[in-house]
Amino acid sequence: MLALTDYEALLCPDCGRLARICQGPLLDGHIEVVTTQCQSAAALQRWRAENADPGPEPGTLAVTVVRRHPRRPLPPHLTP
Ligand SMILES: [Zn+2]
Repeated sequence: MLALTDYEALLCPDCGRLARICQGPLLDGHIEVVTTQCQSAAALQRWRAENADPGPEPGTLAVTVVRRHPRRPLPPHLTP
């Protein structure tokens, strides 16, 4: 079994796929870029833009939590 660092050495530093696959000729012309949005990362980015200092204590981290929205219920498997 490969250690994590050995496995990570096999990955393309840009796309994160196995480098021997993504950097070889087999996928030439078969790769498409799509975008998606991480709602958690978006909330963190908005918060960081509005709050230069995450808190008074050293080591304070800004993290996201899932909360109930009053008008948009979450699917049951995501209910906190
Ligand atoms: Zn790649």
